[in-house]
Amino acid sequence: MFDHFHRLPVFFFLLSLSFSQSIHENEESDTPIHRFQQYLRINTAHPNPNYTAAINYLTNFANSIPNLHSKIIHLTPTSPLLLLTWPGSNPSLPSILFNSHLDSVPAEPHKWTHPPFSAHKTSDGRIFARGAQDDKCIGMQYLEAIKAIQMSDSKFVPLRNVHILYVPEEEVGGFDGMGKFVESKEFGELNLGFVMDEGQASPNDEFRVFYADRTPWHTVIKAVGMPGHGSKLYDNSAMENLMKSMEVITKFRESMFDMVKAGVAANSEVISVNPVFLNAGTPSPTGFVMNMQPSEAEAGFDIRMPPTADPELMRKIIEEQWAPAWRNMTYKITEKGFLRDIMGRPLMTLASDSNPWWSVFNEAVTRAGGKLSKPEILASTTDARFMRRLGIPTFGFSPMKNTPILLHDHNENLKDTVYLEGIKVYECIIKSLSSFEGSMNTNAMGF
Ligand SMILES: [Zn+2]
Repeated sequence: MFDHFHRLPVFFFLLSLSFSQSIHENEESDTPIHRFQQYLRINTAHPNPNYTAAINYLTNFANSIPNLHSKIIHLTPTSPLLLLTWPGSNPSLPSILFNSHLDSVPAEPHKWTHPPFSAHKTSDGRIFARGAQDDKCIGMQYLEAIKAIQMSDSKFVPLRNVHILYVPEEEVGGFDGMGKFVESKEFGELNLGFVMDEGQASPNDEFRVFYADRTPWHTVIKAVGMPGHGSKLYDNSAMENLMKSMEVITKFRESMFDMVKAGVAANSEVISVNPVFLNAGTPSPTGFVMNMQPSEAEAGFDIRMPPTADPELMRKIIEEQWAPAWRNMTYKITEKGFLRDIMGRPLMTLASDSNPWWSVFNEAVTRAGGKLSKPEILASTTDARFMRRLGIPTFGFSPMKNTPILLHDHNENLKDTVYLEGIKVYECIIKSLSSFEGSMNTNAMGF
């Protein structure tokens, strides 16, 4: 017989179960990991990054943290920036800035184990998403660290103004993001003393830190010569001249690569030269005319210049050896950045104790239980170059150790424990840097 009274305990059991489940869910949604996943689920990949959704999400989170002021800055119609400020007790001191970019490179979903905007967390804690390492992790860690500082020490007030900046368009060169921002009135008003920007994961137990970027030189060399029958042997054809240059360039490339292979220099410390296109031949309906030597031939190279290289010397090498006019050759170099700051100094931040900002940063990482590996030049480019260009000391740093380097790769992911440890590291860094009294003589370069 069906007895209502017998069902009652079951009903209450189910009720209490669903009640505790909903509490559990609320708790889950209030964790740093859950918030990180939410940010990762906002698709800000090119070519159609949803900056509005990302900025709304970050602003909402920032509004939940006391004393954090937010400002959305429009410097172009489509690419807004978000600036958050935690005011310091002495706002006349140069401020510190923590930067990250909102956008990411595209992802090819069918090549991923988990969809790139699902932020799926595996049982071993790896969170899969485009942007997990580059660089939505730091964007959220900055905020979580400020929240944690305020929770653990409600009396703490930074001495200097602390700014958190979210910029668009970094992955497409930064010209409509940080490039425009450094020229704006709002940037000048920040009175920056020191900047932290993105770095890269470290496969070993030490955190990596970057004091400079390399600058791309897109270089095209072109040869011209008398065209001729394919059967004829003669001097100075365009192809012959280009091939002679290719031999010279290949030797230069080898000499650089040999230094890397010998362990004398890191990959990012040498001038890298890689051929990216060859363009020659007389087209025919089936391919190329085979019995004709063409009158023009050109080749393109991706050259990466470290700030330690001498740009004038490199120009001379290209002009005299790679594309000599006496071999009917011309060249075009498109510099995609700067090698010198506005004072004419090599574009890098001093990573030694003669830069007081370095010492404060280094000690903060140590206090957080971490260790920095030998400071490096980044092989590629970031927005840090815009600040270094103005002489503002800037380090690239993303606290991910014992982590494979997966930026721009399929299956980009970051382990939850690594992410959470990064928040702890930033707690120390933000506290130390924002409390740094400095000396009266400390100028923007920290000397
Ligand atoms: Zn990045």
